[in-house]
Amino acid sequence: MTSSTAPGSPESTPSEPAVRVRVAPSPTGDPHVGTAYQALFNYAFARRHGGRFILRIEDTDRERSRHESELAILESLRWLGLSWDEGPDVGGPSGPYRQSERLTIYQEHVAQLLNAGLAYRDFSTREELAALRAAQRESKEQTNYDQRYRDLDPGESAQRAESGESHTVRLLVPNDGECEWRDELRGITSREWSLIDDQILLKSDGFPTYHLANVVDDHLMGVTDVIRGEEWMNSVPKHILLYQGFGWEPPRFHHLPLLRNNDRSKLSKRKNPTSINYYRRAGFLPEALVNFLGLMGVSQSEGEEKLGLEDLIDGFDLSNISLGGPVFDTEKLRWLNARYIREEHDPAGLVKLLRDWAMSDEALERIAPLAQPRLETLSDWGALTVHFFADDVHPQEGDLTLKGREATELAEILQLAIWRIEGFAALDAERARELLSGLAEENDLKLRDLTRPFYVAISGKPASTPLFETMEILGSDMVRSRLKRAVDLLGGLSKKKLKALEKRHAASRA
Ligand code: GLU
Repeated sequence: MTSSTAPGSPESTPSEPAVRVRVAPSPTGDPHVGTAYQALFNYAFARRHGGRFILRIEDTDRERSRHESELAILESLRWLGLSWDEGPDVGGPSGPYRQSERLTIYQEHVAQLLNAGLAYRDFSTREELAALRAAQRESKEQTNYDQRYRDLDPGESAQRAESGESHTVRLLVPNDGECEWRDELRGITSREWSLIDDQILLKSDGFPTYHLANVVDDHLMGVTDVIRGEEWMNSVPKHILLYQGFGWEPPRFHHLPLLRNNDRSKLSKRKNPTSINYYRRAGFLPEALVNFLGLMGVSQSEGEEKLGLEDLIDGFDLSNISLGGPVFDTEKLRWLNARYIREEHDPAGLVKLLRDWAMSDEALERIAPLAQPRLETLSDWGALTVHFFADDVHPQEGDLTLKGREATELAEILQLAIWRIEGFAALDAERARELLSGLAEENDLKLRDLTRPFYVAISGKPASTPLFETMEILGSDMVRSRLKRAVDLLGGLSKKKLKALEKRHAASRA
């Protein structure tokens, strides 16, 4: 392993620029634990080296980016106790920090590449490219862009663009030789250029792709060290080509090992909840989650594993990272969490934790009207509302049924519900009602029959507090987690079924 000495560290020379690092989430879904892991490592690196930590929002995917998702990411990172020196909310000297507000910067940079002959316009239509891919698939070739516009005369290209013809701009990638670069954690790495497609840099709507925006921003924001997930390794050659094209010095690259499920597959919500909000709602403490993420990728030492943020920063050294994918072991997370609850809080402190978590007056006042009509004595409260204060609710298998339908059919409907909820900006009672009515109608079911298994999945019991309001109070993450557990309890869905179902889901969105 190579050491990752950085400027700003005691060994660095004074002339080198101070460390600047960033985390660059795309606001396209739930705040992911992987984002927190990268944010934490960047934060610790910046603190360790007396540098600055930037938060940049990469919202160039217009269809998938959502402002709510950006807010949720910022809020969940703050909950974890992380803070950034520059970002869309706090500003800073290199802003704006939201890529959708930097479009002219990218367009100017693309113009530079076009002028220098390092990029070219592609006038292929969507249909032509789809036909190309289909033909390549048919003849079992790799599906690559065939560079059909690469040699178009630049004058003609400019003229066609001027006349308003729709086009993208692609990076001119060499067809021979290889790209070699150094990863601070992995040493010298190389890739053959012939395996790399002429990457689209600017889409036909004038928005940049990830690659262009990422490189331009890392440079303009003075990022010295790119610390991110291993899944971006394959993008490095394209990025290096861009740095060279602009005449810029590339930053140092440190690709962190991916978080994995227990079976060593890439951490995915199919197997583990991945949303930070789920862990929060399930009663994990931010200190425990940060501690747990901080231990990821760091070779397990013999010593104390319960480490606060400051301890993590003090002992932080990227060169200690073990590259064998760290397992996101929820048992270990629970063990750590239990230690924080026991060791860091006296009973009064625990009461405060509980109140902040789900038992504030405000939270109880939202539950009270749902429980009140069903209480004969105050002591009925406990059994009636237990599902608001639990993670798993352990439904009886026999209760999880849909009148006249097979278990798989029910599992499919529950899975569709999960995906649809995922697409909602927020889950409120009205959306929940619409969701269930829609699913009932599409599946030729009475709403009453369909709500029953949802009650069971969400509250553990066939009858409970009103379903839609209950879903609103539990929130999107906890509801999805319970529906997912119900799908598993019903025997799960085979890969084939899931694929077919995904198509159905996509069609219903179109
Ligand atoms: N927007 C990318 C992501 O969502 C950033 C990758 C990078 O750090 O370069 O992970």
